Amino acid sequence: MQFRSDIFWRAAKGCCPDCGAEIRSRKNPLSKWGQFANIPDRCPDCGMVLRRRDGFFLGAIVWNYTLTAFGALPLLLIAVRLGWCGEAWAIRWAILTALTVPFFIHALSWRLWIGTYYAFLPEQLPSSGRRTDD
Ligand SMILES: [Zn+2]
Repeated sequence: MQFRSDIFWRAAKGCCPDCGAEIRSRKNPLSKWGQFANIPDRCPDCGMVLRRRDGFFLGAIVWNYTLTAFGALPLLLIAVRLGWCGEAWAIRWAILTALTVPFFIHALSWRLWIGTYYAFLPEQLPSSGRRTDD
């Protein structure tokens, strides 16, 4: 198994991992803001299914949790350590962070998950012969 970084970065930038077309939802009025937009079910150009069957979303949840727990929340620990805020305020900020950050990085988490999945399993891409209706 070889990690295909080109596929990962293509998906992470918001493009289809197979054809490279932009995958932001054209129907979603929030899509111009990128981070808040939903990932469409299919690629608008090649029709590749981006939201696969039940359970595929779990990878996006892992990315979302990882970015929140190990990316955003440690900043609060650093702020407390540096004396920028007290522990009581850090707890309040941590709760607020835990409740809001996952919403804002939803689409990013999906893109990272799709990129991770197909970078490790490029033979799963439709251009490699997999059915597109999965
Ligand atoms: Zn595509």
